[in-house]
Amino acid sequence: MSMVTITGSAGAVTARLKLNVRRDAPSSASPRTRQIEAGQRFGVIGQANGQNVQGVALWYALGGNEFVWAGACDNFVAGPDPDADADGDRPSRAELGDYSPPNFETATGIRHKVQGKRPNGLEGMIVHFDAYRIRAAGNGAENSDSRSLDTLRGGQDNGFHYGIISRTGRVWLPEGFDWGDWGYHAGPSLCPVTQRTGVSQFYVGFEMNNPGKLFATADPGVFCPWFNVVVDKDKNPVLDSKGRATRRSATDEWYTSDQVRRASGGNIHDGWYLPYSHAQRETLTNIALYLAKRFSSFSLDRVLGHDEVAPTRKNDPGGALADPDQVMTMAEFRADLKSRL
Ligand SMILES: [Zn+2]
Repeated sequence: MSMVTITGSAGAVTARLKLNVRRDAPSSASPRTRQIEAGQRFGVIGQANGQNVQGVALWYALGGNEFVWAGACDNFVAGPDPDADADGDRPSRAELGDYSPPNFETATGIRHKVQGKRPNGLEGMIVHFDAYRIRAAGNGAENSDSRSLDTLRGGQDNGFHYGIISRTGRVWLPEGFDWGDWGYHAGPSLCPVTQRTGVSQFYVGFEMNNPGKLFATADPGVFCPWFNVVVDKDKNPVLDSKGRATRRSATDEWYTSDQVRRASGGNIHDGWYLPYSHAQRETLTNIALYLAKRFSSFSLDRVLGHDEVAPTRKNDPGGALADPDQVMTMAEFRADLKSRL
């Protein structure tokens, strides 16, 4: 692959249409890494000559070897740091808030089932965990990007609809994802804010790759996910008189006492959890703030845990929120989000 020459000035442009962001070369034949919503204003580092599309061969370089076709962009304004500038036709720091717009990636080849259009546009978000493996085969090194895509693929197989955030902080949406469409992710549910049932129709779901509520075992300092404990014929973990489970395999995934924590209070079902990674929590925060900025229908008061809308059935995110240094109830998380805008 040859290097692409970047010329011209850095600045900001506005997406006139929904933009495909291409990686490696300014061409529609290059891999698409993510999309930028129509109407969004974003920074560019310069220009490049690329594929001629409808008579326009100019592309904007976004940095990180990413490019968008200039034919679908308007209102280029040169400037070293457009986000920091309070110039009238650019968002001011106050308007942008204290966050970085998330870098949504499209999971090529994965599509999720859509049930219809949201009746009032996107109104909120449900925070989940996927209760799935985070590591490579057995108890190997963390391999959360790959496991996250496994979960997204599982959503396709099971007719669900959501995005996923890896422990590395990457976030994927399925192909063809539209914020205005809804599909299932929360099941039978009741919103404590609006008293409406079936919250999937109104709120987008984000899964966090995480092994879920953990079981202390009879082995000191050994904590296991549901998929590595001995279960009975109804698939419930077999617990001893002290409430401890039995690890099924020392070579399958489990966690040490310094990696996990016990948490309770608020929405949190008392128990052991592996905290979300710091990068994962940052991405979750940035997505909530981005959606609050992007959609007037979206409220940070409706950023809810699955355990808040289905408290008797679900325990996510529970004590996995917010990051390794800090446990947060969902109420504390919402207060934190509002303090950043
Ligand atoms: Zn959930």
